[in-house]
Amino acid sequence: MRCPFCGADDSKVVDSRLSAEGDAIRRRRSCVECNERFTTYETAELALPRLIKRDQSRSLFDEDKLRSGLLKALEKRPVSIDSVDSAVKVIIRRLIATGDREVESRLVGDWVMDALRELDEVAYVRFASVYRSFQDVNAFREEIERMESLSNPLVNKK
Ligand SMILES: [Zn+2]
Repeated sequence: MRCPFCGADDSKVVDSRLSAEGDAIRRRRSCVECNERFTTYETAELALPRLIKRDQSRSLFDEDKLRSGLLKALEKRPVSIDSVDSAVKVIIRRLIATGDREVESRLVGDWVMDALRELDEVAYVRFASVYRSFQDVNAFREEIERMESLSNPLVNKK
């Protein structure tokens, strides 16, 4: 690690300890050239998979979007923000646990349903009606399109 004071390439670790939350290692370092001391933090970087949408487009997983989606479903419901945060954490953990680089976004939708089912029945039904009927709308549209393509020859005959 380069010294931030004199720019020397080498420093030695004089102390190393785990952060209170246990998710980072704090290292106290001393420059071998100028003897100045500085601190570095080491954390694990977990790469989240990208989401594959219905139209096959890819997007980055957005934690804020997930949280606001949950909060919207839980609007005016007796559920604490802590419970929402732990639901978000559970979903992120499941996402990482897939070990895949890309995951179908409807999988995340299903996990949101799981989380809401545990948190609040009303919010679950609220979300499910929107989420499921959205899927049905797509199925419905596909069916309409299929029927239209079948009926085209008939239209041409007229
Ligand atoms: Zn130095």
